[in-house]
Amino acid sequence: MTLFRLKRKEHTTSTVCPRALMCPLFKQDTSNGGYSSEKYKKIYCEAGIKAYSNCKKYIIYNLINTCPNYVMPNSSFSVDEIISRIKRQSDNTFNI
Ligand code: SF4
Repeated sequence: MTLFRLKRKEHTTSTVCPRALMCPLFKQDTSNGGYSSEKYKKIYCEAGIKAYSNCKKYIIYNLINTCPNYVMPNSSFSVDEIISRIKRQSDNTFNI
């Protein structure tokens, strides 16, 4: 069960993710656990709507308008798990 409903999907005729200009992962070229940003770009960001629609960062951005840097496109965590973690962190921040 998802915690949030999907917002309106962003449509584009480009093969590049509509979030690319705002996405820190797309803009950086440092290594991330064996995958470089260049590999992520080829697999997700610049590979068309089917590919970037499966990116966990893209999905999270579309659900809550933000996404922590630690979320990778191929995260093994479910969307619900990621959002629960973000919410827990947010709750802890405000409970100090
Ligand atoms: S990492 Fe995901 S959200 Fe960021 S530009 Fe690539 S496909 Fe889009």
